[in-house]
Amino acid sequence: MNELAIVIPVFNEQSIIVRSIETIMAELELIDALNDFELIIIDDGSSDSTWGVLRDKLCPAHTEIRAVRLSRNFGKEAALCAGLEIADARAVIVMDADLQHPPSLIDKMYRIWREGGVDIVEAVKRSRGNESKFSSFTARAFYAIFSRLSGVDLKNASDFKLMDRRVVDAWKTLPERNVFFRGMSAWMGFERKQVEFTVAERSGSVSKWNTLSLIKLALTSIAAFSSAPLHLVTMAGVSFIIFSFVLGMLTTIQHFSGVAVSGFATVILLLLIIGGSIMISLGIIGEYLARIYDEVKLRPRFVVSDDTKADATILD
Ligand code: UDP
Ligand code: MG
Repeated sequence: MNELAIVIPVFNEQSIIVRSIETIMAELELIDALNDFELIIIDDGSSDSTWGVLRDKLCPAHTEIRAVRLSRNFGKEAALCAGLEIADARAVIVMDADLQHPPSLIDKMYRIWREGGVDIVEAVKRSRGNESKFSSFTARAFYAIFSRLSGVDLKNASDFKLMDRRVVDAWKTLPERNVFFRGMSAWMGFERKQVEFTVAERSGSVSKWNTLSLIKLALTSIAAFSSAPLHLVTMAGVSFIIFSFVLGMLTTIQHFSGVAVSGFATVILLLLIIGGSIMISLGIIGEYLARIYDEVKLRPRFVVSDDTKADATILD
């Protein structure tokens, strides 16, 4: 077992991968107390030359690097799972390949962990880097809703973390298919300490997330962490019942006191409102049903197609 493993998911990073891996390697070699480490790079089904670069250039140059290729793009969370599954070290650091997570922080995180007493060292964003107003607003709105619904506070959290072996082993016992790394690692607890970092400019390539994939991630993580939307449906139903009861009484009184019941517009409006809320409610229930369906299929989170050290560990 190594002392330290670094897990890096990559997806179409051909323009930056060599520079970023060399930087991380150089940083790791500078750490005095660290003798043995491994770099696990998970190629998340890249369609550019990323895998070729990893296999033919980076792996032969450094024996510490193990590159694993997933059979298609499974998403960053699945790639992280693959990395954590393979990592065989007393401490595991998870980081991005685009140098937005400063490699210089590895030393600091590693030292905090070595001092003992801390199971998770998390890097939190001091600022959100050079993001557009829109994306920082949506991120903030999402975290606000998420922490209200799930009780897990993720503001300024990042996927840049050091985890003790104990945490990784605990992580591996979580069976769900819909993985939300930040939320699940916050949920696990353990002793944690934070170090701050400033998000660097994304260099070389563009972000792999678009608005639609972010909305999907937000929905998945809310549905995975909270059943509050379901309770909301119940609450809405209850308020409609109370409202209709009051309205029914009023109408009955009006009927018996001889006042003609008018208000075709009101009826149409009510129909639309109720029809709309029923459909939304069904949609919310469907959202959970879809998650349940995903989970009960029990498919693996990822499929490995290539591994530069295939015989080192057998994946289960
Ligand atoms: N990534 C991945 N699979 C994907 C999308 C992204 O493995 O489907 C990797 C990507 O190569 C990078 C990290 O996840 O190392 C973070 O991606 P990105 O920088 O695009 O996200 P952001 O920094 O905007 O959160
Ligand atoms: Mg990035």
